[in-house]
Amino acid sequence: MLVIHGGAGVTRDSIDAGEAEVARQALMQALRAGHAQLLAGKPALEAVTAAVAVLEDAPSFNAGRGAVFTHDGRNELDAAIMDGASGRAGAVAGVRTIRNPILLARAVMEQSPHVMMVGEGAEAFAAAQGIERVDPSWFRTEKRWQQLQKALREEAAKQAHADFDTARAIGTVGAVARDAQGRLAAATSTGGMTNKRYGRVGDAPIVGAGTYADAQCAVSGTGWGEYYIRAVAAHEICARVRYAGQDLRGAAMSVINDDIPRAGGDGGAIAIDADGGIALPFNTEGMYRGWIGADGVPHVAIFADEALEEPGDRSRIK
Ligand code: ASP
Repeated sequence: MLVIHGGAGVTRDSIDAGEAEVARQALMQALRAGHAQLLAGKPALEAVTAAVAVLEDAPSFNAGRGAVFTHDGRNELDAAIMDGASGRAGAVAGVRTIRNPILLARAVMEQSPHVMMVGEGAEAFAAAQGIERVDPSWFRTEKRWQQLQKALREEAAKQAHADFDTARAIGTVGAVARDAQGRLAAATSTGGMTNKRYGRVGDAPIVGAGTYADAQCAVSGTGWGEYYIRAVAAHEICARVRYAGQDLRGAAMSVINDDIPRAGGDGGAIAIDADGGIALPFNTEGMYRGWIGADGVPHVAIFADEALEEPGDRSRIK
């Protein structure tokens, strides 16, 4: 079982029918890429890596190519990966030239004694590891650039505001998987939030906040990162499963749809448990999302009013 998301920031007026179709195709491609790994008997870790790398390369989503812009007009990318079976994790933050930040996060996990590397140090490590680097223009899309220009105009119009605004344009990509041996993994990659300040790091690369996996539960989040960090959201979901005896769906719903909005944030998450149970809660207008099970048929949805078929039975889930 593989579950993916492409961010909870999508609204009906932010994409037209053609863009929605392109995004659906990319979601299906990511599901198939991850599923091929599972089918080949590879661990969950390979499936989430493959799925996220496809989503990073797809300009529809705010990760890798198509990432949102910082206040000063650059792309700074964050990513993390965690292997539930071994408890190992790797993360990078604030990288600017890494085509697939998830591959660098994985290299940090597997080829270094560290868990997280940032900025220039992470880029130097990438060079040493032979990880593909690109000119920063690779990440640029006109749509994301215009989103920044709009955010800057809105910010200028609110000059009385002492603080800066991070525009509510969110979107991230992520995957969680359970392989044939019951091992779980989670991966998340993002450009962060439009108009974020230089050096801002969101929840995606922070183990326990936007990304978490253990032997029983794996989660990848998307949403207003500051709230996910404060709620330690991904770990909180798994902790409720483990210590409070909640089922995965209940735990994920209560953290994402009760706690985060109560604190003032919004967003969504995908989660999977050791039995292959899944949850995809979100409290925004839409979340690019999908899953693929043993039969290899991809299921995808975008907006909140589109139900997604439930694995196992024919009922519907969100
Ligand atoms: N959570 C990401 C961040 O705050 C953004 C997102 O999911 O859209 O960096």
